[in-house]
Amino acid sequence: MDRYDVIVVGGSFAGLSAAMQLARARRRLLLVDAGKPRNRFAATSHGFLGQDGVPPADIMREGLTQLARYPSVDFAHAEALTARAEADGVTLTLSGGAGVSARKLVLATGVADTLPLESMIPRWGVSVLHCPYCHGYEVRDRRLAAIATVPGAVHQALMLPDWGPTTFFTQGRFEPTEEEAAQLAARGVAIERTPVVELLGEGTALSALRLADGREVPAEAVFTAPRTHVTSPLAEQLGCAFEDGMTGQYIRVDALQQTSVPGVFAAGDAATRMFNATLASAAGVMAGVAAHRALVQDAAA
Ligand SMILES: Cc1cc2nc3c(=O)[nH]c(=O)nc-3n(C[C@H](O)[C@H](O)[C@H](O)COP(=O)(O)OP(=O)(O)OC[C@H]3O[C@@H](n4cnc5c(N)ncnc54)[C@H](O)[C@@H]3O)c2cc1C
Repeated sequence: MDRYDVIVVGGSFAGLSAAMQLARARRRLLLVDAGKPRNRFAATSHGFLGQDGVPPADIMREGLTQLARYPSVDFAHAEALTARAEADGVTLTLSGGAGVSARKLVLATGVADTLPLESMIPRWGVSVLHCPYCHGYEVRDRRLAAIATVPGAVHQALMLPDWGPTTFFTQGRFEPTEEEAAQLAARGVAIERTPVVELLGEGTALSALRLADGREVPAEAVFTAPRTHVTSPLAEQLGCAFEDGMTGQYIRVDALQQTSVPGVFAAGDAATRMFNATLASAAGVMAGVAAHRALVQDAAA
């Protein structure tokens, strides 16, 4: 069985950033990636320094090309199916049946989204969006809808008027407090309490929202928070502790991205409540550095 210093599972913003630090530290490394980054539904990625407006796949391709220049890195285009913690490291099984082991592990598997309405699915990343910083500028001055799925949704509705005229849909479940209602009014946000039941429009475009009482309200972009879950069961299998986030559970880490299981680090969307490519990349850098530091400490002990 191949034995590495570190295995990084997930080859997107967090995983590639972790791998880059370890490759530059000349550590023997395996990057395992199934090739499904969370933002693959969007045509372009925004806000990442030097890569604003670049297709996500192009960013990943460039990251992989640069990483491949380091001779101590192996790549597996595969899914890591199982993980087992052992006294001196971890052993993984990959799709295809191969077993691999390493002294340290970085989990950078991201999260998967569950959208609240079926008609949102084909529009995800185009006219149904999760974050105004990522895609708000591209829908500026259009009629915007904030569809509440979690108690904190009102805060997103309060931001949106910086991008366009906004209606906050409480879905009949997330009624703003009196103070929040006053803030929404001060920001010019309309409130609609009848639930949205369907999105209308050609293909991936959005033209209106159908409400439960049959009314159709014009809207050109929706912002909402889907339920999230950590993409892979590896962290559970290893016994990592989780935290409750606003949209779902995520892997608990300390400031060095160390999970509750020694030698297992986690970074990116899988280990945070704040979803953003730059933050995922920064956490990946920290996880890579911390995994390297742990290897050095083991050797010095
Ligand atoms: C539609 C959409 C658009 C977005 N646009 C932006 C934007 O413009 N700007 C921005 O800053 N943020 C954006 N985001 C957020 C951004 O995509 C995430 O913050 C970022 O992708 C997180 O990076 P990550 O490396 O943690 O996870 P991901 O990018 O999700 O990558 C995880 C990788 O791990 C792999 N993987 C998972 N499990 C396994 C396994 N068991 N074995 C092997 N591989 C595995 C996956 O296949 C995937 O390749 C967007 C999100 C969405 C949903």
